[in-house]
Amino acid sequence: MRAMAVTRTGAHDVEPVELDLPAPGPSEILVRVLACGVCRTDLHVVDGELTNATIPIVPGHEIVGRVERCGDRVTTFVPGARVGIPWLGWSCGDCEFCLAGRENLCRRARYTGYQINGGYAEYTVADARFCFPLPDGYDDGHAAPLLCAGLIGYRAYRMAGSGTRLGLYGFGAAAHVITQVAVHQGREVYAFVSPGDDQAMRFAKDVGATWAGPSNEPPPVPLDSAIIFAPVGRLVPEALSRTTPGGIVVCAGIHMSDIPSFPYRLLWEERVVRSVANLTRKDAEEFLALAADVPLRTHIQVYPLADANRALDDLRAGRLSGAAVLVP
Ligand SMILES: [Zn+2]
Ligand SMILES: [Zn+2]
Repeated sequence: MRAMAVTRTGAHDVEPVELDLPAPGPSEILVRVLACGVCRTDLHVVDGELTNATIPIVPGHEIVGRVERCGDRVTTFVPGARVGIPWLGWSCGDCEFCLAGRENLCRRARYTGYQINGGYAEYTVADARFCFPLPDGYDDGHAAPLLCAGLIGYRAYRMAGSGTRLGLYGFGAAAHVITQVAVHQGREVYAFVSPGDDQAMRFAKDVGATWAGPSNEPPPVPLDSAIIFAPVGRLVPEALSRTTPGGIVVCAGIHMSDIPSFPYRLLWEERVVRSVANLTRKDAEEFLALAADVPLRTHIQVYPLADANRALDDLRAGRLSGAAVLVP
């Protein structure tokens, strides 16, 4: 089968490779990939900013596919079913975190497109216990961004508390989905984009933001909370400075540049800074049900699998409105 793989650490691109068709283990399914979203985490893997990748690796953890074959112990899917494969590929099930419903923190967890070959390929195998049926209202390409931008974005959104005024820093795939969730739940979204990025400002307004402006300027009102999707550490004190007492700032990415030191008064009055790591299967079930219910409109730009590097470059350069999706 054809795949695009990271073949050395810090390669900064993926290479076309021919791989043997993978065989599913007893708990696994063999899946024909129909679409795979391109996530910022893929960029961190390709650029060598994350150090635990199994190299060589086929990236991609927003996989929409069709089940071709099931291992002996698989009871939840049958051949022909459409399936979604997310970032969390496996967790141990018996550590203190797994037992407490926090499998997202499992020390032995393995991640799709990071330690397990992912969706930049014609086929992949996945542990069926970590895969999900997808809502019918989404075609394959439009469903792909739900699987990370949507559901890890949603975990970050839940961590941001229940305040009305939500700031989002970095307006890409995750923010455009979470804006719709927030608006659906009666909240106001304040979108912060790179100074001068008028296209991102228009995009934010189009999907429902109350206000959009440059990330170095104050919003018209103080925020109850903010989520930082951009991998930029200096946005942490910036976002804190825009929150009301008790405000929450959530760092939603797996990697961020260093956070500069900042005066304690920015954290004072019970403000909170926290990160969000990975996802649990419960997050996925909750979010996919919500996505079916709202429904969300994902904006995608489709690339053939062979053009994965062009998709990664467009994401790196901030040229996308919404999410890049690869189609084999
Ligand atoms: Zn565990
Ligand atoms: Zn992701």
